[in-house]
Amino acid sequence: MDLEVVQGDITAQDVDAVVNAANRAMRGGGGVDGAIHRAGGPEVLEDCRRRFPDGLATGEAGWTTAGHMPARWVIHVVGPNHTRGERDRSLLTSCYANALAVADELGAGSVAFPLVSAGVYGWPFDDAVAAAVETLRSTDTGVSLARLVAFDARAFDAIERRLSARP
Ligand code: ADP
Repeated sequence: MDLEVVQGDITAQDVDAVVNAANRAMRGGGGVDGAIHRAGGPEVLEDCRRRFPDGLATGEAGWTTAGHMPARWVIHVVGPNHTRGERDRSLLTSCYANALAVADELGAGSVAFPLVSAGVYGWPFDDAVAAAVETLRSTDTGVSLARLVAFDARAFDAIERRLSARP
């Protein structure tokens, strides 16, 4: 699998599936979640309601339509909320591994990921980058391209540094 980093907006990525840093309720929110619902349109929320009436547990992943975005699917994951005391790192790495498993079920060949939990959920930034890179590198998957989407230059540099460091 190719693992790359780009700087930009996750909603604009021309890939089969984009990953959403959702919350347990799956009814929209801020950050990546807000951007995905704005760009995808109301169909994304309707599909969330229909497919996940009870929301999603922390660390889990599930898919919906991507509505008006270039991608075909959104793979929603719920990262641990470090700020609120959810600090089990396996809940964060599970987001990436479970997202790839859902991508495999869908037959998605290319998937774009944000830095899950690195925003409002407050996971220590460098470790959020490390968890993303190490899990995407070590998970067995049919996905041929995983793209980490950095929202700003700081995130881009941190991811690039981690990608070029030996595991
Ligand atoms: P969480 O609630 O899981 O912490 P956030 O959406 O608050 O998720 O932030 C996760 C990361 O995504 C942060 O690094 C944030 O800067 C970044 N981000 C926010 N909006 C976008 C976007 N539209 N595209 C890509 N990354 C984004």
